[in-house]
Amino acid sequence: MSDTAKTLKFVSKNSKFIAKNVLSKNDLSEVVKNMAKDLGASEVGIVTKKTLEGGPVSTDLDYVLPGAKSALVFAVPLDQNLIEPYLSKKDHSLNKNKIRTTTFTRGIASEIAEFLDMIGFESKAISPNFVYRKDTPNGIRDMKPIISHRYLAARSGVGFFGHSGHILTKEFGAAIVLASVVTTADLKATEPLPKSENYCDECKLCTAICIPKFIPKNEKTIIEMGGEEFEYGKRGDYSRCGIVCSGFAGLHTSKKWSTWSPTRIDLPEKDEDFKFAMLNAIPAYLQRPKNGDYFYHPLIPQYKLEYTCSNCQFICHPDKEVRKNRFKLVKNSGVIIEDECGNRKAVTPEEAEKIIQDMPDKRKKLYTN
Ligand code: SF4
Ligand code: SF4
Repeated sequence: MSDTAKTLKFVSKNSKFIAKNVLSKNDLSEVVKNMAKDLGASEVGIVTKKTLEGGPVSTDLDYVLPGAKSALVFAVPLDQNLIEPYLSKKDHSLNKNKIRTTTFTRGIASEIAEFLDMIGFESKAISPNFVYRKDTPNGIRDMKPIISHRYLAARSGVGFFGHSGHILTKEFGAAIVLASVVTTADLKATEPLPKSENYCDECKLCTAICIPKFIPKNEKTIIEMGGEEFEYGKRGDYSRCGIVCSGFAGLHTSKKWSTWSPTRIDLPEKDEDFKFAMLNAIPAYLQRPKNGDYFYHPLIPQYKLEYTCSNCQFICHPDKEVRKNRFKLVKNSGVIIEDECGNRKAVTPEEAEKIIQDMPDKRKKLYTN
Protein backbone atom coordinates (compact mmCIF):
# COMPACT_ATOMS: atom_id res chain seq x y z
CA MET A 1 0.00 0.00 0.00
CA SER A 2 1.35 3.45 -0.93
CA ASP A 3 1.96 6.14 1.73
CA THR A 4 -0.97 8.18 0.43
CA ALA A 5 -3.30 5.19 0.60
CA LYS A 6 -2.06 4.44 4.13
CA THR A 7 -2.67 8.05 5.21
CA LEU A 8 -6.16 8.07 3.69
CA LYS A 9 -7.01 4.80 5.40
CA PHE A 10 -5.79 6.19 8.73
CA VAL A 11 -7.75 9.42 8.36
CA SER A 12 -10.87 7.57 7.28
CA LYS A 13 -10.66 5.13 10.20
CA ASN A 14 -9.97 7.87 12.73
CA SER A 15 -11.89 10.81 11.33
CA LYS A 16 -14.28 10.98 14.26
CA PHE A 17 -11.39 10.88 16.69
CA ILE A 18 -9.47 13.55 14.74
CA ALA A 19 -12.45 15.90 14.54
CA LYS A 20 -13.43 15.51 18.17
CA ASN A 21 -9.97 15.53 19.69
CA VAL A 22 -7.60 17.31 17.34
CA LEU A 23 -9.67 20.08 15.75
CA SER A 24 -10.37 22.82 18.28
CA LYS A 25 -13.83 24.37 18.57
CA ASN A 26 -12.49 27.43 16.73
CA ASP A 27 -10.91 25.35 13.97
CA LEU A 28 -14.01 23.25 13.34
CA SER A 29 -16.14 26.41 13.29
CA GLU A 30 -13.83 27.92 10.69
CA VAL A 31 -13.93 24.71 8.62
CA VAL A 32 -17.73 24.70 8.37
CA LYS A 33 -17.99 28.46 7.77
CA ASN A 34 -15.41 28.22 4.99
CA MET A 35 -17.21 25.19 3.59
CA ALA A 36 -20.47 27.17 3.31
CA LYS A 37 -18.67 30.04 1.57
CA ASP A 38 -16.70 27.76 -0.74
CA LEU A 39 -19.93 26.05 -1.78
CA GLY A 40 -21.74 29.31 -2.62
CA ALA A 41 -22.85 31.22 0.49
CA SER A 42 -22.24 34.96 0.66
CA GLU A 43 -22.69 35.30 4.43
CA VAL A 44 -22.44 32.74 7.20
CA GLY A 45 -22.91 32.76 10.97
CA ILE A 46 -23.22 30.44 13.95
CA VAL A 47 -25.71 30.41 16.84
CA THR A 48 -25.56 28.35 20.01
CA LYS A 49 -28.14 27.52 22.66
CA LYS A 50 -26.63 30.32 24.75
CA THR A 51 -26.94 32.98 22.03
CA LEU A 52 -30.55 31.87 21.33
CA GLU A 53 -31.55 31.78 24.99
CA GLY A 54 -34.96 33.38 25.63
CA GLY A 55 -35.76 33.48 21.89
CA PRO A 56 -39.08 32.61 20.22
CA VAL A 57 -40.20 28.99 19.98
CA SER A 58 -38.82 28.68 16.44
CA THR A 59 -35.27 29.10 17.76
CA ASP A 60 -35.39 25.84 19.74
CA LEU A 61 -32.53 23.73 18.36
CA ASP A 62 -33.56 20.69 20.45
CA TYR A 63 -36.89 20.62 18.61
CA VAL A 64 -34.97 19.89 15.42
CA LEU A 65 -32.30 17.65 16.89
CA PRO A 66 -32.34 16.64 20.57
CA GLY A 67 -28.91 17.28 22.03
CA ALA A 68 -27.99 19.90 19.41
CA LYS A 69 -25.42 22.42 20.58
CA SER A 70 -25.25 24.93 17.74
CA ALA A 71 -26.43 25.79 14.23
CA LEU A 72 -24.75 27.17 11.16
CA VAL A 73 -26.89 29.59 9.15
CA PHE A 74 -26.03 31.06 5.77
CA ALA A 75 -27.28 33.20 2.88
CA VAL A 76 -27.01 32.49 -0.84
CA PRO A 77 -27.61 35.51 -3.11
CA LEU A 78 -30.14 35.63 -5.94
CA ASP A 79 -29.01 36.98 -9.30
CA GLN A 80 -29.04 40.80 -8.96
CA ASN A 81 -28.99 41.20 -12.76
CA LEU A 82 -32.45 39.66 -13.01
CA ILE A 83 -34.14 41.87 -10.41
CA GLU A 84 -34.85 45.00 -12.42
CA PRO A 85 -36.16 43.12 -15.50
CA TYR A 86 -38.44 41.19 -13.11
CA LEU A 87 -39.73 44.27 -11.30
CA SER A 88 -40.40 46.12 -14.55
CA LYS A 89 -42.20 42.98 -15.78
CA LYS A 90 -40.06 42.61 -18.85
CA ASP A 91 -38.51 39.26 -17.92
CA HIS A 92 -39.71 36.65 -15.44
CA SER A 93 -36.40 34.72 -15.25
CA LEU A 94 -35.81 35.74 -11.62
CA ASN A 95 -38.60 33.33 -10.68
CA LYS A 96 -36.62 30.38 -12.01
CA ASN A 97 -33.46 31.75 -10.40
CA LYS A 98 -35.30 31.85 -7.04
CA ILE A 99 -36.48 28.25 -7.42
CA ARG A 100 -33.05 26.98 -8.46
CA THR A 101 -31.22 29.01 -5.79
CA THR A 102 -33.55 27.59 -3.15
CA THR A 103 -32.70 24.04 -4.23
CA PHE A 104 -28.99 24.91 -4.42
CA THR A 105 -29.08 26.40 -0.91
CA ARG A 106 -30.68 23.23 0.43
CA GLY A 107 -27.90 21.30 -1.29
CA ILE A 108 -25.21 23.24 0.58
CA ALA A 109 -27.00 22.61 3.89
CA SER A 110 -27.22 18.86 3.13
CA GLU A 111 -23.52 18.63 2.23
CA ILE A 112 -22.46 20.39 5.43
CA ALA A 113 -24.79 18.27 7.59
CA GLU A 114 -23.50 15.05 6.02
CA PHE A 115 -19.89 16.21 6.38
CA LEU A 116 -20.40 16.93 10.09
CA ASP A 117 -22.16 13.61 10.51
CA MET A 118 -19.25 11.78 8.86
CA ILE A 119 -16.76 13.29 11.31
CA GLY A 120 -18.85 12.32 14.29
CA PHE A 121 -21.42 15.05 14.92
CA GLU A 122 -25.06 14.21 14.31
CA SER A 123 -26.48 17.07 12.24
CA LYS A 124 -29.62 18.03 10.37
CA ALA A 125 -29.99 20.25 7.30
CA ILE A 126 -33.02 22.53 7.31
CA SER A 127 -34.51 23.52 3.94
CA PRO A 128 -34.95 27.20 3.13
CA ASN A 129 -38.75 26.96 2.96
CA PHE A 130 -41.95 24.86 2.92
CA VAL A 131 -41.05 22.52 5.82
CA TYR A 132 -43.47 22.94 8.71
CA ARG A 133 -44.09 21.57 12.21
CA LYS A 134 -46.55 18.67 12.26
CA ASP A 135 -47.42 18.84 15.97
CA THR A 136 -49.28 22.17 16.09
CA PRO A 137 -53.12 22.15 16.39
CA ASN A 138 -53.69 22.10 12.61
CA GLY A 139 -50.47 20.35 11.64
CA ILE A 140 -48.65 21.67 8.61
CA ARG A 141 -51.64 23.90 7.81
CA ASP A 142 -50.45 26.19 10.61
CA MET A 143 -47.29 26.72 8.53
CA LYS A 144 -45.03 27.05 11.59
CA PRO A 145 -41.41 26.56 10.51
CA ILE A 146 -39.41 23.97 12.39
CA ILE A 147 -36.70 26.59 12.81
CA SER A 148 -36.60 30.28 11.85
CA HIS A 149 -33.62 30.91 9.61
CA ARG A 150 -34.33 34.65 9.93
CA TYR A 151 -33.95 34.66 13.70
CA LEU A 152 -30.79 32.60 13.51
CA ALA A 153 -29.43 34.87 10.77
CA ALA A 154 -30.09 38.07 12.74
CA ARG A 155 -28.57 36.68 15.94
CA SER A 156 -25.45 35.36 14.22
CA GLY A 157 -24.67 38.44 12.09
CA VAL A 158 -25.60 37.03 8.66
CA GLY A 159 -27.66 40.20 8.20
CA PHE A 160 -29.96 42.75 9.86
CA PHE A 161 -33.70 42.73 10.33
CA GLY A 162 -35.27 45.28 8.01
CA HIS A 163 -38.68 46.84 8.63
CA SER A 164 -40.04 44.25 6.16
CA GLY A 165 -38.96 41.46 8.50
CA HIS A 166 -36.57 40.21 5.85
CA ILE A 167 -32.91 39.67 6.62
CA LEU A 168 -30.92 42.38 4.86
CA THR A 169 -27.35 41.64 3.88
CA LYS A 170 -24.74 44.34 3.38
CA GLU A 171 -24.08 43.48 -0.26
CA PHE A 172 -27.23 41.87 -1.65
CA GLY A 173 -29.97 43.43 0.48
CA ALA A 174 -32.91 41.08 1.02
CA ALA A 175 -32.37 39.20 -2.26
CA ILE A 176 -31.03 36.06 -0.62
CA VAL A 177 -32.09 32.54 0.31
CA LEU A 178 -31.37 31.30 3.86
CA ALA A 179 -30.81 27.80 5.20
CA SER A 180 -29.41 26.24 8.38
CA VAL A 181 -27.63 23.18 9.69
CA VAL A 182 -28.42 22.17 13.28
CA THR A 183 -25.66 20.11 14.82
CA THR A 184 -24.42 18.39 17.96
CA ALA A 185 -20.98 19.93 17.26
CA ASP A 186 -20.03 22.61 19.77
CA LEU A 187 -19.31 25.46 17.33
CA LYS A 188 -18.23 28.98 18.25
CA ALA A 189 -21.03 31.56 18.04
CA THR A 190 -20.69 34.66 15.87
CA GLU A 191 -22.00 38.03 17.01
CA PRO A 192 -24.86 40.10 15.54
CA LEU A 193 -23.86 42.97 13.25
CA PRO A 194 -23.67 46.37 14.98
CA LYS A 195 -27.02 48.19 14.82
CA SER A 196 -25.24 51.25 13.40
CA GLU A 197 -24.48 49.25 10.25
CA ASN A 198 -28.13 48.41 9.51
CA TYR A 199 -28.96 50.17 6.24
CA CYS A 200 -32.75 50.00 6.85
CA ASP A 201 -33.67 53.68 7.19
CA GLU A 202 -37.39 52.93 7.53
CA CYS A 203 -38.02 54.19 4.00
CA LYS A 204 -41.14 51.94 4.09
CA LEU A 205 -41.00 51.26 0.39
CA CYS A 206 -41.57 47.61 1.36
CA THR A 207 -44.85 48.68 3.01
CA ALA A 208 -45.87 50.81 0.04
CA ILE A 209 -45.25 48.00 -2.47
CA CYS A 210 -47.21 45.37 -0.51
CA ILE A 211 -50.67 45.10 -2.08
CA PRO A 212 -52.35 43.07 0.73
CA LYS A 213 -50.89 45.27 3.52
CA PHE A 214 -49.00 42.38 5.08
CA ILE A 215 -46.09 44.69 5.95
CA PRO A 216 -47.28 47.34 8.42
CA LYS A 217 -46.63 51.07 8.41
CA ASN A 218 -45.53 51.49 12.00
CA GLU A 219 -46.17 48.60 14.39
CA LYS A 220 -43.13 46.62 15.46
CA THR A 221 -42.37 43.12 16.71
CA ILE A 222 -39.59 43.03 19.30
CA ILE A 223 -37.83 39.81 20.25
CA GLU A 224 -34.88 38.96 22.44
CA MET A 225 -32.30 36.25 21.87
CA GLY A 226 -29.32 35.65 24.11
CA GLY A 227 -29.57 39.08 25.74
CA GLU A 228 -29.79 40.98 22.43
CA GLU A 229 -32.92 42.78 21.26
CA PHE A 230 -34.17 42.70 17.64
CA GLU A 231 -36.99 44.61 16.00
CA TYR A 232 -38.92 44.45 12.72
CA GLY A 233 -42.32 45.45 11.32
CA LYS A 234 -45.22 43.51 12.84
CA ARG A 235 -46.52 41.40 10.00
CA GLY A 236 -50.21 40.67 9.38
CA ASP A 237 -51.69 37.18 9.02
CA TYR A 238 -49.50 35.14 6.65
CA SER A 239 -52.46 34.49 4.34
CA ARG A 240 -52.30 38.21 3.44
CA CYS A 241 -48.95 37.66 1.77
CA GLY A 242 -49.91 34.15 0.67
CA ILE A 243 -52.85 35.18 -1.47
CA VAL A 244 -50.76 37.65 -3.48
CA CYS A 245 -47.36 36.04 -3.48
CA SER A 246 -48.90 32.74 -4.63
CA GLY A 247 -50.56 34.43 -7.58
CA PHE A 248 -54.20 34.05 -6.43
CA ALA A 249 -54.47 37.87 -6.56
CA GLY A 250 -52.17 40.59 -7.82
CA LEU A 251 -53.81 43.80 -9.01
CA HIS A 252 -53.11 46.93 -6.95
CA THR A 253 -56.21 48.77 -5.70
CA SER A 254 -55.34 51.68 -8.03
CA LYS A 255 -55.67 49.15 -10.92
CA LYS A 256 -52.59 50.86 -12.45
CA TRP A 257 -50.09 48.08 -11.79
CA SER A 258 -49.94 44.45 -10.76
CA THR A 259 -47.60 41.71 -9.66
CA TRP A 260 -46.78 38.92 -12.14
CA SER A 261 -50.24 37.44 -11.40
CA PRO A 262 -52.86 37.89 -14.15
CA THR A 263 -55.75 37.98 -11.64
CA ARG A 264 -57.81 40.96 -10.49
CA ILE A 265 -59.81 39.84 -7.48
CA ASP A 266 -60.76 42.21 -4.66
CA LEU A 267 -59.01 41.67 -1.37
CA PRO A 268 -60.68 41.87 2.05
CA GLU A 269 -59.62 44.28 4.77
CA LYS A 270 -59.48 42.10 7.91
CA ASP A 271 -56.86 39.46 8.68
CA GLU A 272 -59.51 36.82 9.47
CA ASP A 273 -61.13 37.15 6.02
CA PHE A 274 -57.94 36.46 4.07
CA LYS A 275 -57.98 32.67 4.66
CA PHE A 276 -61.49 32.45 3.14
CA ALA A 277 -60.51 34.70 0.26
CA MET A 278 -57.65 32.31 -0.44
CA LEU A 279 -59.90 29.26 -0.35
CA ASN A 280 -62.34 30.98 -2.70
CA ALA A 281 -59.54 31.75 -5.14
CA ILE A 282 -58.26 28.18 -5.40
CA PRO A 283 -60.73 26.75 -7.98
CA ALA A 284 -59.86 29.49 -10.51
CA TYR A 285 -56.14 29.04 -9.76
CA LEU A 286 -56.38 25.33 -10.53
CA GLN A 287 -58.12 25.95 -13.85
CA ARG A 288 -55.75 28.62 -15.14
CA PRO A 289 -53.16 27.37 -17.64
CA LYS A 290 -49.74 26.63 -16.15
CA ASN A 291 -46.63 26.82 -18.23
CA GLY A 292 -44.18 28.59 -15.91
CA ASP A 293 -41.74 27.47 -13.22
CA TYR A 294 -43.08 26.36 -9.88
CA PHE A 295 -42.11 25.47 -6.34
CA TYR A 296 -43.61 22.21 -5.09
CA HIS A 297 -45.62 22.97 -1.96
CA PRO A 298 -47.36 20.46 0.33
CA LEU A 299 -50.40 22.68 0.98
CA ILE A 300 -51.34 23.74 -2.53
CA PRO A 301 -53.89 21.57 -4.37
CA GLN A 302 -51.94 19.86 -7.18
CA TYR A 303 -48.82 20.95 -5.23
CA LYS A 304 -47.58 23.52 -7.76
CA LEU A 305 -46.95 26.94 -6.25
CA GLU A 306 -46.10 29.97 -8.32
CA TYR A 307 -44.41 33.00 -6.80
CA THR A 308 -45.69 36.14 -8.48
CA CYS A 309 -44.63 38.89 -6.09
CA SER A 310 -41.66 38.94 -3.65
CA ASN A 311 -41.59 42.67 -4.43
CA CYS A 312 -40.77 43.59 -0.80
CA GLN A 313 -37.73 41.33 -0.99
CA PHE A 314 -36.50 42.43 -4.40
CA ILE A 315 -36.81 46.20 -4.07
CA CYS A 316 -34.81 46.33 -0.83
CA HIS A 317 -31.22 47.21 -1.77
CA PRO A 318 -28.47 48.77 0.40
CA ASP A 319 -28.32 51.80 -1.93
CA LYS A 320 -31.39 53.97 -1.36
CA GLU A 321 -31.32 55.32 -4.93
CA VAL A 322 -31.46 51.76 -6.30
CA ARG A 323 -34.37 51.05 -3.94
CA LYS A 324 -36.28 54.14 -5.09
CA ASN A 325 -35.67 53.30 -8.73
CA ARG A 326 -36.88 49.72 -8.23
CA PHE A 327 -40.04 51.00 -6.56
CA LYS A 328 -40.70 53.23 -9.57
CA LEU A 329 -40.12 50.33 -11.95
CA VAL A 330 -42.87 48.33 -10.25
CA LYS A 331 -45.32 51.24 -10.19
CA ASN A 332 -44.75 51.93 -13.88
CA SER A 333 -44.66 48.31 -15.01
CA GLY A 334 -48.31 48.03 -16.08
CA VAL A 335 -50.67 45.12 -15.60
CA ILE A 336 -50.11 41.45 -16.39
CA ILE A 337 -52.50 39.58 -18.66
CA GLU A 338 -52.41 35.93 -19.67
CA ASP A 339 -53.30 34.20 -22.95
CA GLU A 340 -55.05 30.85 -23.23
CA CYS A 341 -51.74 28.97 -23.16
CA GLY A 342 -50.59 30.67 -19.95
CA ASN A 343 -48.15 33.12 -21.57
CA ARG A 344 -48.02 36.40 -19.68
CA LYS A 345 -47.12 39.94 -20.63
CA ALA A 346 -47.50 43.42 -19.18
CA VAL A 347 -49.81 45.88 -20.91
CA THR A 348 -51.21 49.27 -19.96
CA PRO A 349 -54.03 49.26 -17.37
CA GLU A 350 -56.50 50.34 -20.06
CA GLU A 351 -55.47 47.55 -22.43
CA ALA A 352 -55.72 45.02 -19.60
CA GLU A 353 -59.22 46.18 -18.76
CA LYS A 354 -60.34 45.81 -22.36
CA ILE A 355 -58.77 42.37 -22.74
CA ILE A 356 -60.56 41.16 -19.62
CA GLN A 357 -63.89 42.69 -20.68
CA ASP A 358 -63.66 41.03 -24.12
CA MET A 359 -63.12 37.57 -22.64
CA PRO A 360 -65.98 35.05 -22.75
CA ASP A 361 -67.62 34.82 -19.30
CA LYS A 362 -66.20 31.36 -18.58
CA ARG A 363 -62.64 32.59 -19.09
CA LYS A 364 -63.22 35.90 -17.36
CA LYS A 365 -64.14 33.98 -14.18
CA LEU A 366 -60.61 32.60 -14.05
CA TYR A 367 -59.26 36.10 -13.42
CA THR A 368 -61.99 38.06 -11.65
CA ASN A 369 -64.42 37.71 -8.73
S1 SF4 B 1 -37.57 48.75 1.92
FE1 SF4 B 1 -36.83 50.39 3.28
S2 SF4 B 1 -38.01 50.14 5.17
FE2 SF4 B 1 -38.26 48.26 4.00
S3 SF4 B 1 -36.69 46.91 4.85
FE3 SF4 B 1 -35.83 47.88 3.03
S4 SF4 B 1 -34.75 49.70 3.80
FE4 SF4 B 1 -36.12 48.99 5.43
S1 SF4 C 1 -44.24 39.08 -1.22
FE1 SF4 C 1 -45.62 40.67 -2.00
S2 SF4 C 1 -47.52 40.30 -0.91
FE2 SF4 C 1 -45.95 39.19 0.19
S3 SF4 C 1 -45.27 40.59 1.77
FE3 SF4 C 1 -43.93 40.92 0.03
S4 SF4 C 1 -44.84 42.59 -1.14
FE4 SF4 C 1 -46.39 41.81 0.29
